[in-house]
Amino acid sequence: MSDTTFLTDFHHVATFGATDNNGVERQAATAEDKLSRDWFAGFAGERGWEVRVDGIGNMFALIDLVPGAPYILLGSHLDSQPLGGRFDGAYGVLAGLHAAERVAEQVAAECSIPEFNLAVVNWFNEEGGRFAPSIMGSSVFAGLMDQDKMLAVKDLAGTTVAEALESIGYLGTDERPELAGYAEIHIEQGRILEREGITLGAVDYSWYTQKLDIEVLGEQSHTGATAMADRHDALVAASKVVLLVHDVTAKFADEALVSSVGQLTLEPNSPIVVARRVHLVADLRSASPEIVAEARASLLADIAQIAKDHDIRINVNDFDVRGIQYYPEEGLELTEKVAANLGLGVRRIRTMAGHDSVAMNRIVPTVMMFIPSVDGVSHCEREFTTDADMVAGLRALGEVAWEMVHGALAGAPSREQEPAQAGAA
Ligand SMILES: [Zn+2]
Repeated sequence: MSDTTFLTDFHHVATFGATDNNGVERQAATAEDKLSRDWFAGFAGERGWEVRVDGIGNMFALIDLVPGAPYILLGSHLDSQPLGGRFDGAYGVLAGLHAAERVAEQVAAECSIPEFNLAVVNWFNEEGGRFAPSIMGSSVFAGLMDQDKMLAVKDLAGTTVAEALESIGYLGTDERPELAGYAEIHIEQGRILEREGITLGAVDYSWYTQKLDIEVLGEQSHTGATAMADRHDALVAASKVVLLVHDVTAKFADEALVSSVGQLTLEPNSPIVVARRVHLVADLRSASPEIVAEARASLLADIAQIAKDHDIRINVNDFDVRGIQYYPEEGLELTEKVAANLGLGVRRIRTMAGHDSVAMNRIVPTVMMFIPSVDGVSHCEREFTTDADMVAGLRALGEVAWEMVHGALAGAPSREQEPAQAGAA
């Protein structure tokens, strides 16, 4: 199988849900998502690989090399953000399929005896744009989220995950494959590899993250008739909170902390009513749990002051606290070895974004690799990675998969996350 065939397939899949400006809109369990899923099943079917769909819509293509052995799983996700890019996730699935085919062919050609079988996955709802939370399919697979709870999650139109999957024919009942390891390749979505002219990133750890659920409780009143002195305007106080969450990053070294409010709902959201309640979600991320803890303490103090100044109540709760997670050293060394064999530049790199591999790393030895993103942009139509970098990454993934089915990471631990240090409240 040639690099040209891979590129042809990649660019073909990018036509499913294609947008005017070279992006894709293929949110989880939509008609566009179904097109990419049908294509995945077709690719596997043409090669005689078994396809399974589990109870949360994850799709697996299984290649049996050793009867009865557990699987080394390759893959990522085919869903996208609204007006998203065509590389995020899709690249990892397409590279997974083509790398798996190359390994299977090589095993047959060399009559090698692998220790494990090989499979490719398209995880359900990695993006979380339509159904929150993100990284849903792989987290259910890893036992980090409850399947029934996730099936009941609704989108803004009131459609549940179960209904949406059912409607496109991908609410499965198949048994999940037993795994021995996981490898994923993804675009970096930042600009470190591009800046340094390096083709491959060996992802060594994921950032510490925590969210703050913030509820601002004012008092509903008439925007025309209520005297200014008598208003308890939840939106005014919430606006100050939004700015605080942004400005707190300036207290630390450049890029040591990133922080934004990405979601806000307003009640009653009427043009002639002073808001009684605003619900906000702040997302804080850093390589350092101490920095997140310090930023959180500073925000809590400032938010308490805003509540006092406006004579309203503001409830703040920690949630979705994710400790730093380290990928196994054995996998980093494997990526470095493979890069050296292929003559590719490689460096260790952390991920600030969440990925399916972060969930998988909790249960099986996991390798995560990055290839460069032009201009470091992602989650937009302008997202771009060159064909040359995609082909280089595909070769690296093929080599990693070859080593893993032959037992390269069999003794490596999967890494539990460190205990949460901030946000115990
Ligand atoms: Zn992704």
